[in-house]
Amino acid sequence: MSLVNQSKDESYVASESKRLPSIGVSSCLMGQPVRFDGNHKKNNLVTEYLKDKFNLVSICPEVAIGMGVPRQPIRLMQAEKNTVRALGVRDHTLDVTDELRNFAVDIAPTLATFSGYIFKKDSPSCGVFGVKLYETEGMSAKSGRGIFAEQVLRANPNMPVEEEGRLNDLELKDNFIRRVFIYHDWQSRVRQGLTCHSFEEFHRIHKFTLLAHDQHCYRQLGKYVAGCTKKELKKRSECYIAEFMNALKNIPTVDQNINVIMHIMGFLKRDLTSTDKAELVRTMNKYRVGDVSREVPLTLISHHLKNYPNQYLSSQHYLNHAMPI
Ligand code: SF4
Repeated sequence: MSLVNQSKDESYVASESKRLPSIGVSSCLMGQPVRFDGNHKKNNLVTEYLKDKFNLVSICPEVAIGMGVPRQPIRLMQAEKNTVRALGVRDHTLDVTDELRNFAVDIAPTLATFSGYIFKKDSPSCGVFGVKLYETEGMSAKSGRGIFAEQVLRANPNMPVEEEGRLNDLELKDNFIRRVFIYHDWQSRVRQGLTCHSFEEFHRIHKFTLLAHDQHCYRQLGKYVAGCTKKELKKRSECYIAEFMNALKNIPTVDQNINVIMHIMGFLKRDLTSTDKAELVRTMNKYRVGDVSREVPLTLISHHLKNYPNQYLSSQHYLNHAMPI
């Protein structure tokens, strides 16, 4: 699905026909020849690996505001009063800052349906981290953020975002996918009309994930859920999801994952035989020294849950292998 040829004032609603989380993707990463020089920057991880997990919606803001292909390249320039402008590299009178911002505002209803976004790095429109910001002619002393990306992030502060380069890191990639699915769960509950019950359920099924990512948040966030009334729901849930999604940016360490696995073992201590426990500890030690992945002890626990059903544990997203963790 593409917004490449979307005019600025066309309203657009992302299709949910595939019932997968929708994520925005910079069009050039999808292999579309929309860059200033007519080329693309196809990213196989996005086009091959992620295409079955998500409904990918491609967006090229520069084409969408009518810059055409090929076009004069732009770059970020420091302007008056500490502002940043997107100006033509050859012709500084070309200033597309407002158009890029306005395009993000125009498609805000679509962006709000996204559960994540993958941006092209280094782009003065789409880059998120460390885009070159020029102070004077030919000198880039600072780093900034692409104009379109900045507006998208400001309007959707809880939405998981990544740049394609960072997704080559296995842990960052897995964490991005996990965050997208969890945020999608939250958005679905909000779309259906969040209730105190669905709020509490969200907290309950993501508790171990939260514990793995951030122990402090794990202890603190329960306060928003406990005793929540209908009157307080909006305010409490907005504070909650902001802190929750922020906590999920932390990548769990091996020790943090082991802490969660030990926690899970505590729930099964009366059911597991001493042989079961010894095997689980052995597997956990193999995970600790890097001989096996985290999925190995988790698979063993899932196996035990078939023999010793435990509804609370089975509902945990952390143990749910259907999720791409
Ligand atoms: S980085 Fe963004 S603006 Fe540039 S070609 Fe890719 S999608 Fe278009």
